[in-house]
Amino acid sequence: MNKALIIIDVQRDFCEGGVLPARRTGSLIKPLNKAIAWSVEHSVACIFTRDWHPPDHCSFTSQGGNWPPHCVQGTSGAEFAKGLNIPDSTLVIDIEKDSNKASMSYSAFENTNLEHELRSLDVIDVAASGIATEYCVAATVLDALRYGFKVSVLTDLIRPIDVKSGDSNTALAEMKAAGATLLTSKEWLNSSIVRLGRHENFHNNVEIRLLSIEKAIADYHLLAQRHKAKFQDKIDEHTVLFLKGLGNDIAFLSCFKELFFNSRELLDILLTKLNKVTDSSKFQTSKKFLVFAREMMRGKYDGSNLAIIKFLKTNIMYIFQIRKVRNEIKNNPSNIDIRYVNKLEAVFEVPINNDEKELVQYLDIENKDEAVKKGYYNCTYFLDEIFPQMPLFWRTCLSILDDDIKALTTGRP
Ligand SMILES: [Zn+2]
Repeated sequence: MNKALIIIDVQRDFCEGGVLPARRTGSLIKPLNKAIAWSVEHSVACIFTRDWHPPDHCSFTSQGGNWPPHCVQGTSGAEFAKGLNIPDSTLVIDIEKDSNKASMSYSAFENTNLEHELRSLDVIDVAASGIATEYCVAATVLDALRYGFKVSVLTDLIRPIDVKSGDSNTALAEMKAAGATLLTSKEWLNSSIVRLGRHENFHNNVEIRLLSIEKAIADYHLLAQRHKAKFQDKIDEHTVLFLKGLGNDIAFLSCFKELFFNSRELLDILLTKLNKVTDSSKFQTSKKFLVFAREMMRGKYDGSNLAIIKFLKTNIMYIFQIRKVRNEIKNNPSNIDIRYVNKLEAVFEVPINNDEKELVQYLDIENKDEAVKKGYYNCTYFLDEIFPQMPLFWRTCLSILDDDIKALTTGRP
């Protein structure tokens, strides 16, 4: 966990129809909900703050303050804005702010446990959204920077009150000068994408590119350490490969590659053994693998009644897929997007060769006919999922093969 989306004071009283409405709140909820849903899906914490005043709060005009009474504890005006989606997730945290009658604080950090919550989730990177730009958003952003967080302000997901026109622009300039990054929610959602290899726009974004690679590696380090702790006592060669060489972006790519190339060795062992069982040639080339896979899927080996055939038939498309992914990593690394959003994903367009067309129908992908027509399909690979599963998969393969080969050579069923 290292990112959080802070949704500041998106409450009825601050929306159109409320007693202290910000501007253009009607267009806020939909895109905000989208960012919230994305965040939960990608394990980004969502911090919902609420202005939560006692009825005689010092900021109210009745008490000599500047504001009409608003967001009074327990009243409908203090409720979240209509249509705002509060997901049911352990990553959703509700913060009540400014609930002390005598003190006035715009910042969500003041007199709350927000900092503690963020630290306990290992958050280092926060994005601010909500109401109102020049008051609670600005104060929260400036405090977050003071506490050492990396802060983004999502310019399309904040709304100003602008008592004096231009107030919010002044506040935005102040946030930027203090070190906050101003960007749109779309840019923020995409900010965890690291593109490996050289691209046409490579030079335009060198700094951003380096920063995001650096961040992805730092995140990856953290994750690897956590995995390592979990698997410390049963660490195997795959785990070692996976954890090895995480120091820089070159090692990052090469450890990625090694994971797959190591699997190819295992695949070759498996297929060599398989050749003996199925009486095919001594060396399993890529073309022969395809022939074998096609024949297996068509049912050629069904009569042999070996557990291995049944097992392999189930898993051969997985093997096929891994081979293709591995080829892409080897041959076209610059076509691969590495995304890190608490999970390491590799996103590719995988080409379909003529001799593979028949096999594609067995793949678990969308729009197979269209993919065959286009000559490629989109593939997302979760490396963090492969990490614990790959060794288990191969070990199971090999142990089943060993049993079958024993059965075959001793003549027992
Ligand atoms: Zn207030």
